[in-house]
This record gives sequence, C-alpha cells and structure tokens, in this order.
Amino acid sequence: MNARVQPSTATDQHPPSYYAASSHPQPDYPPLQGQVQVDVCVVGGGFSGLNTAIELAERGLSVVLLEARKIGWGASGRNGGQLIRGVGHGLEQFTGVVGAEGVRQLKLMGIEAVEIVRQRVERYGIDCDLTWGYCDLANKPRDLVGLASDADELRDLGYRHSLKLLQAGEMRSVVGSDRYVGGLIDMGSGHLHPLNLALGEAAVAKSLGVQVFEHSAVSRIEYGPQVKVHTAQGLVQAKTLVLGCNAYLNDLNPQLSGKVLPAGSYIIATEPLSEDLATQLLPQNMAVCDQRVTVDYFRLSADRRLLFGGACHYSGRDPQDIAAYMQPKMLKVFPQLAAVKIDYQWGGMIGIGANRLPQIGRLKDQPNVFYAQAYSGHGLNATHLAGKLLGEAIAGQHSNGFELFAKVPHITFPGGKHLRSPLLALGMLWHRLKELR
Ligand SMILES: Cc1cc2nc3c(=O)[nH]c(=O)nc-3n(C[C@H](O)[C@H](O)[C@H](O)COP(=O)(O)OP(=O)(O)OC[C@H]3O[C@@H](n4cnc5c(N)ncnc54)[C@H](O)[C@@H]3O)c2cc1C
Repeated sequence: MNARVQPSTATDQHPPSYYAASSHPQPDYPPLQGQVQVDVCVVGGGFSGLNTAIELAERGLSVVLLEARKIGWGASGRNGGQLIRGVGHGLEQFTGVVGAEGVRQLKLMGIEAVEIVRQRVERYGIDCDLTWGYCDLANKPRDLVGLASDADELRDLGYRHSLKLLQAGEMRSVVGSDRYVGGLIDMGSGHLHPLNLALGEAAVAKSLGVQVFEHSAVSRIEYGPQVKVHTAQGLVQAKTLVLGCNAYLNDLNPQLSGKVLPAGSYIIATEPLSEDLATQLLPQNMAVCDQRVTVDYFRLSADRRLLFGGACHYSGRDPQDIAAYMQPKMLKVFPQLAAVKIDYQWGGMIGIGANRLPQIGRLKDQPNVFYAQAYSGHGLNATHLAGKLLGEAIAGQHSNGFELFAKVPHITFPGGKHLRSPLLALGMLWHRLKELR
C-alpha cells in the first residue's frame, strides 16, 4: 500500500489507517443546513471538541458541534492510541507564573486526565479496546535516572497505580528487543483504539442532546457577544464559541494557529501476528514509548498487529511512502519482523507549542471565545482534561484548573506559517544534537 497523508482539502474520508479499517460502523452525521441558535458552538470533531461538547451538555447547555470532515478525522482518529499520564514537559518552568503549588496542581491534573478517559469509557460503556499497562523505555542510562525520578515524583503526588522501575536485564519481560537499558512500568496508563473512542464519544454527545454535524467546515466567524459561525450551507449563532481544531486550525483563527507548529507523525500496522510472535515482542501487551525526540511508540492492536509509530516531520512534506520510511525504524527495534507484511500506513499532524504545555484558555479580546490546542503529541489524555476545564469555565463554575492553564502565556511563532516549519526543524535539530552527547 502507498497511502499518503490526506491533505486537508483532499477528501472528507478518514485516511486509510488500520483504525478506519477496523472501526465500529460509522454513522453519517448530517451537514449543517440553515440556521441554529445555541448556547455554545464547538468547532472540531476530535477529542478536544467532543469532550468539551459532552462536558457542556452534561451541565445543561445547548451545544452544536461542527466537524469539517468526519468525527475523528484529525489526529484523534489516527494516533498511536497510547493513553499516558502527564501534561506538558518540565512543568517547573512555570513556577514563576503559577507558583510551586500551581505546578503541583498541573502535575495532579496530568494524572486526573487519564482518569477522565477511564471514567468516560466506563460510564458510557464505550467499546475501544482499553487495555491498562504502559512502559517508558530508556535509551540511555541517563534516561533511566530521569524515569526513577518520575516514579518518585508520582509517588509523592499520591499516584495510586503500580509503578516499577526495570533494569536492563529485566527489559525482555516487557519488550523483545535489546535496544533499551531500562524502563518504568506504569499500570495507570495504557492503550486503546482511538477512532472507536472518538466515535463512542460522538454517540455520547448526541445522546446528551448535542447537535453533531459532519462535512461542515467553518469558513468564517463573526465575533461579538453573539458569535456567528458560518459553514457552506448554514449558520450557528451562539453566546460562546470553542475552537478545538489543534494542528488543523489553519487560517480560521491566525492568532491561535500562530502558536502551534504542525508536525507530521507516522504509523505502520503489520499483518496480524501469531500469538507466539506477539508475545515475544510485547509479552505483557503494554504500550511502550522511548525517550528520543523523534520518539518510537508502539503497541499491539486487539487483533495482534504491531502498530509502530514515530518520527516528527516539521518540513510540511510527508514521506512519499510511509511504510518504506517507517519499516527500517521498526526493524531496528524488532529485526525478527523482517518478513512480516505491512498492511496499513498513515500519518497525521500533531500540534506543538513552544513551551509544550497544552494551550487552554479564552481569547483576551473576545472573552466568549475559548480554545484548547497544542498537546505536543501527547493529547489523548490532555484533550479530555481540556474538555472538562472548558466545560467548567463556560458553565460559569469556578475552575482552578482552567485558571491555571489560562494564566500561562504562549508565544506566537514569528514569521507566520511559512517560517514555523523551519523554526521547528531548527529546534528539533538542536534537541537531537543534545541527544548525541
Ligand atoms: C500520528 C499521531 C500519533 C499520535 N499518538 C498519540 C498517542 O499515542 N498518545 C497521545 O496521547 N497523543 C497522540 N497524538 C496526539 C493526539 O492525537 C492529539 O493531541 C489529539 O488527538 C488532538 O485532538 P484535537 O481534538 O485537539 O485535534 P484533532 O483530533 O486533530 O481534531 C481537530 C478537528 O478539527 C477539524 N477542523 C479543522 N478545521 C475545521 C473547520 N474550519 N471547521 C470544522 N472543523 C474543523 C478537523 O477536521 C479535525 O477533525 C498523536 C498524534 C498523531 C498525529
């Protein structure tokens, strides 16, 4: 197969991913036609938009959700499916802005974010292959030192799930490769089928009264006390607007998209593996992720394929042949897969922010416009947290979490969208050079 990442205007269908091929039946939500008046208009049918819509509907607000293509078409329906604790990186950098207690609260929210997914799946009985167990893989001895301190910090925060630090000699109990010098097992993180989670959440939103529209790209927004949101055939008038388009926002709101660098990440899925081979690769069926900037992340699907993801392409150009690009990376970890067929290949855009903290807040000059974006490749949990915090803030409930996130400033990358990619390339190169030391 030679699946290219779909450019945003190419098609309304999902890219030909393993997830699209194995998803539950996908209902067709209609395009918006005519005029609708609601409390809140949410733009984006990924986890940010869906979870904000659910949280708002649970609080009794009337909500329209507009998705340009299909539910889960963006990163939410294409990602590695790794549900990992934590938000942001190096949260101490925000001490000057939110104080030491604020930093502690951010860390606690990184734990809570996974619990929100757990509760949503359990409460609404969403069938998405949710499986617990995750291991951070250390590439170098100093990574292991970092993982040991992560474990200490989690315990200090009262983390209730089992954590276990592994030395090099114990790694084969988690991953059938000699590439790693240790790891940290976390039984409070895990993996799932992200498109089925998104489809399940859309069904939940609908059951709560959210009006869900697909094939309804927002083309223009008139800001003001009553926001007017235009699509090709319709208009939503709302007291409040939520923008949850992350790396796919493009020119809809340049103020927000200027704070996000879109970067391509790619995944291949093997043919189904024999039980013996699958057990040899990942004996405990955990999701795993290494510590390099261009991170390898992989796991088994429910039908025992290896889903191997990685890379971080900032050039704006996707590899012509994703399998040819990703397979050598997979074989470095698992040379025993040389003869295994690749059935699916796809990619998607992650949204990277300069300080790596998810951007959750409201526009200064348009206080009835809220947003959540820039999860820096770690958004499965954080989007669910963002939904909750936006739900609280928009419903007028006191939200300490929302206030904390909203307090942190986020820089606009200079040079507009044409300079953003080269800037990210330079930043990544710098981090890679650091890795070589
Ligand atoms: C290949 C890949 C692997 C990843 N792996 C992981 C992982 O294993 N674990 C993890 O935690 N995170 C991972 N991520 C990141 C995670 O998927 C994202 O952070 C998260 O899904 C972002 O959700 P979102 O709803 O904000 O954005 P998206 O899911 O991208 O949704 C945005 C939606 O907005 C819509 N939209 C855009 N413009 C408009 C418009 N004008 N009108 C209407 N709709 C519009 C788009 O069509 C899109 O559906 C990965 C990302 C990628 C790309």
